[in-house]
Amino acid sequence: MLRLAIQKSGRLSEDSLALIRECGISFVSSSYKLKTEATNFPLEILFLRDDDIPGYVQDGVADLGIVGQNVLVEAGFPGLEVEALGFSKCRLSLAVPRADAYASVEALQGKNIATSYPNILGRYLAEQGVRANLHTISGSVEIAPSIGLAEAICDIVSSGSTLLGNGLREVETVFRSEAVLIAQPHLTPGQTDLLEQLRFRMQAVRRARR
Ligand code: ATP
Ligand code: ZN
Repeated sequence: MLRLAIQKSGRLSEDSLALIRECGISFVSSSYKLKTEATNFPLEILFLRDDDIPGYVQDGVADLGIVGQNVLVEAGFPGLEVEALGFSKCRLSLAVPRADAYASVEALQGKNIATSYPNILGRYLAEQGVRANLHTISGSVEIAPSIGLAEAICDIVSSGSTLLGNGLREVETVFRSEAVLIAQPHLTPGQTDLLEQLRFRMQAVRRARR
């Protein structure tokens, strides 16, 4: 038996469920149940907040998970990744107020930057030799400059319309992300075998979609 954790409701949910179904796995899901069991594969599906998924898989509470690389790397467990899934593609970018001068990342030296990704951003800035003050906030990062909390932000971007709507412009790509399958480090041989069957089916689904 394998326990797979997926996002309960959000941008990963629909594509995660669709992928499992396209792998030929049948299950009943309802919006208020927190777990369900597949009827034709030894799989239990847990519905969680995406932020909790890397930790649960690292601890073996769940055997597998589907999560964005942004959340996985920020949580500090990049080694759990076993398969890139090709959906929920997005990027983590730095943005500054549209009117502000910005020549290069050095412009952020000594500045205040609001983000929900202090680990990924901190590593990026260190590589660029830039020292800045990071302010970790968990949501609505885009409003930080307009309320005087920060001179720049680092957040998830897909179309850029949220940035535009808040008078910001994207200046650097910090990290590129997509959804990935992750697995706990201590699967039994039987579970490893099931994981390989799942990965084989997932790869076939991706090939068929192209
Ligand atoms: P939860 O309530 O589970 O914590 P959340 O609000 O943190 O959800 P979502 O906004 O649903 O998260 O995003 C989940 C993941 O989807 C992100 O971590 C990222 O990997 C990806 N993602 C975020 N925004 C986009 C986007 N605009 N386009 C594609 N993928 C995205
Ligand atoms: Zn989340």
